[in-house]
Amino acid sequence: MKKAALHNLGCKVNAYETEAMQQMLEAAGYEIVPFNEPADVYVVNTCSVTNMADRKSRQMLHKAKKNNPDSIVVATGCYVQTSEQEALEDLSIDIVIGNNRKHELVSLIEEFAKDNVLDINHEKQEFEELFVSQTAEHTRAFIKVQDGCNQFCSYCIIPYARGRVRSRKLENVIDEVMRLASNGYKEVVLTGIHLSSYGVDFEDKTDLLALIQAVNRVDGIERIRLGSLEPKIVTEEFASALSQMPKVCPHFHLSLQSGCDATLKRMNRRYTAEEYETGCRLLRKYFKHPAITTDVIVGFPGESDEEFEITNQFLKKIHFYEMHIFKYSKRKGTRAAVMQDQVAEQIKTGRSAELISLGNEMSDEFRMYYTGKIKDVLFEEKVEINGKSYYTGYTKEYVKVAKESEETLENQIIEGKITGRLTDDIYIMR
Ligand code: SF4
Repeated sequence: MKKAALHNLGCKVNAYETEAMQQMLEAAGYEIVPFNEPADVYVVNTCSVTNMADRKSRQMLHKAKKNNPDSIVVATGCYVQTSEQEALEDLSIDIVIGNNRKHELVSLIEEFAKDNVLDINHEKQEFEELFVSQTAEHTRAFIKVQDGCNQFCSYCIIPYARGRVRSRKLENVIDEVMRLASNGYKEVVLTGIHLSSYGVDFEDKTDLLALIQAVNRVDGIERIRLGSLEPKIVTEEFASALSQMPKVCPHFHLSLQSGCDATLKRMNRRYTAEEYETGCRLLRKYFKHPAITTDVIVGFPGESDEEFEITNQFLKKIHFYEMHIFKYSKRKGTRAAVMQDQVAEQIKTGRSAELISLGNEMSDEFRMYYTGKIKDVLFEEKVEINGKSYYTGYTKEYVKVAKESEETLENQIIEGKITGRLTDDIYIMR
């Protein structure tokens, strides 16, 4: 039996695609083995979101060839899309597959052809259908419903790497959700590169809200979690409609990047801090104590001490459950990479540390609120903590909770009282 090994880098969309490629290889008769074992085929789904991600992608591709010099090494994903030439010249890589040809993985391996990168920016493409009916986590499944982005934030290479928005047909998403439900999944996470753009490429009026409403009607699915949203999608109508669907988790990731309008403008983000705040206010109007999470970039070109302080104050004012803090790093080929006033690394590190510490405080406060409250938890896995056996899972707000149990609780939703803290970030249910 031929052996294949896969390695994933980057975002949830990539993780989903890697899962789908694994299933294609299994269906074609490959045995899937761990990445550090000898295999006949290695597939690395690369990422290019930062220079560090590029480097890691290259390292994994080289590692694959080193594991077995006679293997076929397949590079796919954003790094090969943005650095096509480099990938084609790299002797460790045998096959380069552009983002829209992953479904041909097996036949491309068989043909062992080179030069497979498609220019997705200049060809009108349909959404690439990859089906997943099982994922590694057996309680929660990620479903990619959209690819590409038309936003062109000045620091981001994604619109060049993944091309323009392509949405997956609503009926295909629903077919997949139904299949997942019949395989026992209770929670689905709708993801995409720019999820809020879902449907902008359709001729009818199908949009993200219509998609969520359709998923909400699928029997067996009990929770719907949403991937990252554009703040301006949260209108009164959107927030109110979401709140009428009890399956929708009150956990919203609204990408912020900066709380200062001048910085946002240079980033080419298409909202102001005030518009962002309005989105949060609406979510808090329609959901009780929702989890609002975000991403922030520090040290964007031209970010002065004053601009950083405006962001810092804004973050405190909004009060987040979780913040992912990124130090700005130059992406070759983007406008921000050639902007004046690049910020010194040391300053970025200081600002990042300050916001990480603020984020930790706010996370603690958010979780603490649930002490004494009755919540539903979808349990996922058995873990040992301080020598005892627990099952851990998440509330709808994505607070991690543990419960002691001899019997399996995997994939069960259990209601109970949160009584206090077990570790820094895990609460306990009695
Ligand atoms: S919205 Fe901006 S940051 Fe997000 S993928 Fe599109 S261009 Fe990149």
